[in-house]
Amino acid sequence: MANSINGPAGNTRAGLDLKSLVRTIPDYPKPGIQFRDITTLLADPAGLRASIDEMIWPFLSAHIDHVAGIEARGFILGGAVAHELGRGFVPIRKKGKLPYKTIGQDYELEYGVDAVEIHADAISAGDRVLLVDDLVATGGTADAAIDLIRKSGGEVVAACFIIDLPDLGGADRLRRKGVTVHTLMAFEGD
Ligand code: AMP
Repeated sequence: MANSINGPAGNTRAGLDLKSLVRTIPDYPKPGIQFRDITTLLADPAGLRASIDEMIWPFLSAHIDHVAGIEARGFILGGAVAHELGRGFVPIRKKGKLPYKTIGQDYELEYGVDAVEIHADAISAGDRVLLVDDLVATGGTADAAIDLIRKSGGEVVAACFIIDLPDLGGADRLRRKGVTVHTLMAFEGD
């Protein structure tokens, strides 16, 4: 599989313009950030269905054991992707939220560090995992999630996102880790 799979500029094969369903909120949560709000896309019946269809099509014939989603928007998308692929869903959560034994991974934020965790028994050695989140910016969150899957003994088949912010370099960062990245649309200049 190629190291990069990109959708046709936000248009689905059905011709729906998914990009126009994403709402942009300037200066949220702080000045200078263009927040790409997918709640408007999720609320649109055709938009939601087409987004999930576009996320899964490269993986219809791929060997995948689990779909992992990153809290919180990755849960909404990852749950639907797992259902469509007929696989189980594994949550990757912020530190302290999972009830059983966990494996953790710290990652750097603009100010300070954060951590994500996965249940220690969620993934077995050799399991092939598809990672899902809504958006890749710097790639720090997904990078930590990939490390968690690998620490668990799993192999990351690909990471898929609705939105890429290419100027922040996150997708390239994940590709440099040897992960195939699949995105449906890009917003340049952020
Ligand atoms: P990063 O770790 O920098 O790739 O950030 C990715 C995470 O932060 C994703 O879970 C996104 O939901 C969220 N995020 C980062 N930047 C934005 C943005 N401009 N608009 C919406 N969500 C964002």
